[in-house]
This record gives sequence, structure tokens and C-alpha cells, in this order.
Amino acid sequence: MVKMKGLSRGFVWWPNIDKDTEGAVRNCEECQELANNPACAPLHRWEYPSFPWQRLHIDFAGPVQGKMLMVVIDAHSKWPEIFLLKKLLARYTICLPAWDSLTKLYQTVHI
Ligand SMILES: [Zn+2]
Repeated sequence: MVKMKGLSRGFVWWPNIDKDTEGAVRNCEECQELANNPACAPLHRWEYPSFPWQRLHIDFAGPVQGKMLMVVIDAHSKWPEIFLLKKLLARYTICLPAWDSLTKLYQTVHI
């Protein structure tokens, strides 16, 4: 939209050209179809890890009864480890107590 308005203003100008351009695009069926189809991002396929705990997938779930869960999945075996977190994590991506538990359990945890 920004590019189209800039291009239009490079050739012609009238009062409310931006507003009129937006309206024309909004009412154009072809423009709307293209706008809803962003360019496809190339798929990135993870290589299958050759041994357990070589790569972990970590995410948070919850809140469940006021608590957050840190879910750790081993990419090789799909084994889940779930840690109950005592407080909500808004800004932290790794919970250190849970991380300590993981390293005690498996000794070699690589990021
Ligand atoms: Zn159009």
C-alpha cells in the first residue's frame, strides 16, 4: 500500500490521493486476493538428531491453575519433560531451576 501510494504520487497528485488510493485498493478484488497471499517462506526442515537429547524443543504452556508449565521435548525420542513453574514467566525464555533439573537428569544438555 505504501509503495503504491508513493508510486501514484510520483505521477499525479490531487487532494486526498492517499485516501482515494487506499479506497481503490480496498475495493479491488484482485488486490485483495494478492494481499491475503503473502509470499511463501521456504520451509526449514530440522535434521533428525542422531542421539537423544542432542536437540530440545522448549516452550511454555499455561497458565494451568495459576501455574505455568515449561515443556521440554527431546527431538530424537519425543520424550517430554514437564516442569511446573512457581511464577508466571513473562520475560524469561529459560527457567533456571528447571534447567538445573534437566542438566542433573541428563548431564549433557546442549543448546
Ligand atoms: Zn487492484
